[in-house]
Amino acid sequence: PYAGPSAEEVLEKRRKFMNPAMFLYYKKPLNIVEGKMQYLYDESGKRYLDAFAGIVTVSVGHCHPEVVQAVIKQTELLQHTTTIYLHHAVADYAEALAAKMPGNLKVVFFVNSGSEANDMAMLMARLYTKSYDIVALRNAYHGMSPSTMGLTAHSTWKYSVPQGFGVHHVLNPDPYRGPFGADGKLYANDIANLIESATPGKVAGFFAETIQGVGGAVELAQGYLPAAYEIIRNAGGLCIADEVQTGFGRTGSHYWGFETQDVLPDIVTMAKGIGNGLPLAAVVTTPEIASVLAERLFFNTYGGNPVCSAAGHAVLKILDKEQRQQHCATVGNHLLARLRALQDKYELIGNVRGRGLMLGVEFVTDRVAKTPAKNETMMVMERMKDLGVLVGKGGRHGNALRIKPPMCFTLEDADFLVDALDHSLSTL
Ligand code: PMP
Repeated sequence: PYAGPSAEEVLEKRRKFMNPAMFLYYKKPLNIVEGKMQYLYDESGKRYLDAFAGIVTVSVGHCHPEVVQAVIKQTELLQHTTTIYLHHAVADYAEALAAKMPGNLKVVFFVNSGSEANDMAMLMARLYTKSYDIVALRNAYHGMSPSTMGLTAHSTWKYSVPQGFGVHHVLNPDPYRGPFGADGKLYANDIANLIESATPGKVAGFFAETIQGVGGAVELAQGYLPAAYEIIRNAGGLCIADEVQTGFGRTGSHYWGFETQDVLPDIVTMAKGIGNGLPLAAVVTTPEIASVLAERLFFNTYGGNPVCSAAGHAVLKILDKEQRQQHCATVGNHLLARLRALQDKYELIGNVRGRGLMLGVEFVTDRVAKTPAKNETMMVMERMKDLGVLVGKGGRHGNALRIKPPMCFTLEDADFLVDALDHSLSTL
């Protein structure tokens, strides 16, 4: 059994010695001391079904034995040198990752976080096109570095410092709350309008998540990305897909989120699930676009280190071996069907959405006015935690549950989650 410090002791140290901007879930914060596949354990040994996966980061399962082994093996042999020397683990992994990409997306750069990956994508788009303006979506989250904070479109994550020069946010193609409903093409007109009125007529690029993660699992209206990509390319821009949350088969129907809208991006950024919890991220693009970075030297101390590369490579192999994409489709469809049935039972559930194991449930106090039920959302989360199920929260109004478990989540786990949600709603 766990013999370390209690939640109260950790909390006190955190308050005293750590950044006060950090936020916690739950009135009585959880002290998680162990993880195994889709389960987490607190200090008392209580088991929780994890349906949020460390904010969609643990892809193949907490402490998946094959990832653990790959990390141990590489750690014992060599931890770090940087890319000034050769190392096969990094090159082998780049080859394996490139093999997962469609089209000519064949050149990989490794970095350490999603923010860094999007920073690099932004830089490459600007260098390649020799334009500066960038289009992003409202309700997007692309990071918190000084430049990605400008791409992100949530006031919660924006400090009042100069940021986002040249970034313009267009209408979000949100089928539930957007003015044009599920008609993706109509929303894309806003991009054309923006380019005409707010830019020199040329842009460097366009960023989008296919299902907005932090934004509350909002799946972009179908037809949006093909229309948006066409408009952007006509204005000389590159199309960038942020696959930090939607990649690696999580959507079930496809390996990459952008494939659900049948588009081929020029640059793809990845993080989170790519390393199953290790600090790893990647930017993948075409040889032609990648060559612009060679105008200068590029260096990143930890990017592409052997240990994270070994973990990332293990993740790719496990996803294939355990057929996780197919599994996400099966379990996700079952979850969606059961959540939709629950929607018939509770007026509070305004919208159920998403794909695979990337789902959202939005709570409203009035279905017609779509009034966000923020307090109820917090109460449901607390109750589910007491019943042993951890879910996430998100969306502009903080009224959407985010269900994004490790990809080993089973049909039985899905049933347990929905039963816990049902019970929580019934006792509100
Ligand atoms: N893009 C998306 C879609 C994300 O969800 C996040 C993190 N929530 C990021 C980028 C930034 O990643 P990181 O926190 O690793 O910088």
